[in-house]
Amino acid sequence: MLDTYKHKGQRARLVQLLADKGIQDENVLTAIGVVPRQFFVESILAESAYEDRALPIPAHQTISQPFTVAFQTELLALKPRMKVLEIGTGSGYQTAVLCEMGMRVFSVELEDKLHKLAKGRLEDLGYKARLHWGDGSKGWPTHQPYQRILVTAASPWVPAPLKKQLDIGGKLIIPVGTQKQQRMYEVTRLSYKEYEVRKHQHFAFVPLRGRYGFDE
Ligand code: SAH
Repeated sequence: MLDTYKHKGQRARLVQLLADKGIQDENVLTAIGVVPRQFFVESILAESAYEDRALPIPAHQTISQPFTVAFQTELLALKPRMKVLEIGTGSGYQTAVLCEMGMRVFSVELEDKLHKLAKGRLEDLGYKARLHWGDGSKGWPTHQPYQRILVTAASPWVPAPLKKQLDIGGKLIIPVGTQKQQRMYEVTRLSYKEYEVRKHQHFAFVPLRGRYGFDE
């Protein structure tokens, strides 16, 4: 697959659309303007890669809608070289956006097939993320604490291990609710024991499974 002038034009239009929808963080918009989303969907869907909608990926999962990626990434309020843990690597697109923004990215995926596909893709594109195959509802204890944690699947609550693996002063962005609809939570760790929760708008993600997800 190639990245052509057509794709560059489509990305520029997508970036303008996201700005029109209220995304303000220039670094987020710049990254979305660079990452070739067509590489993260199956070739049969490449024509739709720059539409602002979620698309199916293998294992009955989805690559998030670009607006959702932009919204979550903006909420992370990133600063250069932050250590970011992503739960739900999926296609690897969000991972690539975080790498493009200069973050040190750790990402966990439950589906072996998706983990392997994302690994190959990110390597081919030169993105140096650390990827792990496993149950991300438990976080990734080895590399804790994280300054930012991003969950890209719907959770019935805020999993305790993720709160624990968050640095003091750190932020966790996670959609919380039912399997049908969730609200975006912005959880800030104020001290060892205290967390503050801010609730944002509604979204619809695929479910977080595993020990601290909907499988519990
Ligand atoms: N960030 C992804 C979105 C993928 S959808 C992208 O940009 O494409 C959510 C992903 O979370 C799915 O791939 C699903 O398999 C994964 N997932 C669900 N439960 C999980 C868990 N407990 N641990 C890790 N990944 C999980």
